[in-house]
Amino acid sequence: MSGSEEGVNYLSELLGAEEWKVREALKRGTIRRVRLSFPDFEYYRLVRDFSGHERGTIVVPEHDLVVRGFPKIERALLLEPALRHRFGEEGRVIVEEKMNGHNVRVFEVEGEIYAATRGGLICPYTTHRVRERYGEALRAFFEDHPDAVVCAEFVGRENPYVSKEYPEAPDVGLFVFDVRDLDGRFWSFREREAVDEYGLSRVRCFGEFSVDEAVEEIPRIIRRLDREGREGVVIKDPERRLGPLKYTTHAAHVEELEWAFTFAFDLGRDFVLTRTIREGFQSFEWEEDEEELRRRAEDVGRAIVEGLRRALERARRGEGAVEEVPLTFASMRWYRRYEEFVKRLTGGTHSVEVVDRDEDGRVRAVLRKRYVRTEDKLRQLLREGVL
Ligand code: ATP
Ligand code: MG
Repeated sequence: MSGSEEGVNYLSELLGAEEWKVREALKRGTIRRVRLSFPDFEYYRLVRDFSGHERGTIVVPEHDLVVRGFPKIERALLLEPALRHRFGEEGRVIVEEKMNGHNVRVFEVEGEIYAATRGGLICPYTTHRVRERYGEALRAFFEDHPDAVVCAEFVGRENPYVSKEYPEAPDVGLFVFDVRDLDGRFWSFREREAVDEYGLSRVRCFGEFSVDEAVEEIPRIIRRLDREGREGVVIKDPERRLGPLKYTTHAAHVEELEWAFTFAFDLGRDFVLTRTIREGFQSFEWEEDEEELRRRAEDVGRAIVEGLRRALERARRGEGAVEEVPLTFASMRWYRRYEEFVKRLTGGTHSVEVVDRDEDGRVRAVLRKRYVRTEDKLRQLLREGVL
């Protein structure tokens, strides 16, 4: 019912937007119909903000369900002014770990659990791994809180979006950082602690601080996370009314730069600007001496040069510009669903392949993410030498 009058009517009611606007949005592709992975229902996703609804919003007309998109978290470049300006001199904040995986909104439809990506797609891989490991806990949670959406970071080495190993989640793991009611209200920090009772894990909390304390404490927390190679923190209003702020470690910037430069012609330009800017601000705010500055600069420079050099060495060995991520599926059925999902969404630049089958039917596979521009450019450059 993509453009049918009945469909438009339904969507317009659920989104509280005029019909002509919905019709336009469907035509322009701002609202897209999705029939993928889950044959039981079709849904719509918002590719951009639309009529007061965030990008990534999911609408399931058959079940009168609207799951709101997860709002962007602003970044603090200078901690002290950011904290004072956002939370006020008298304010209080909760400091939580920012984990590096991908954002999932977990919700229930007809007793089944689904996990949506930031962009508003229900990912069959994430969904089935979340069901497998946390299905029982989540179902118990939704039984008591049917109007809630669980916002969590899905992390681990076997994460197709951001593959990064965490000691507490060697393959995959789900760490709750927010709960939101369907009407858009975020739960306060205290309310959110309730997820523990159901056996769900939350991201680490470093404590509640006054703004003055936070100005002192956060740099210490960040230095510790930096030594552990972890990403950073998110700073939140305990009542969850003011918008949160994120702040990240030197280690995260360096790691991302090196990774981005192994796919330099796809990712280099964006990453180099954003990450180096953060480094400049951090070094300034922390009033670094010559020695600290030298170390920071060396790490940043090295990440860029080494990343690119590794990419060239690989290309010379005839290898493609490909990132490989190990994935495990509960069955061939889930594998095939994900295979189709990847094929449809990436148009073939990404692919999966079975590596092994366990006795119990589990499927070990590998996801190959190809960075086509980098692959072509490096090949041409090794041949011709001229950009
Ligand atoms: P955006 O900045 O638009 O949110 P992004 O994916 O580039 O997009 P990140 O820099 O990764 O954003 O920071 C925001 C994301 O951090 C959130 O969407 C969420 O997935 C993740 N995150 C990890 N830990 C937390 C936490 N404790 N609280 C809130 N978000 C967290
Ligand atoms: Mg992230």
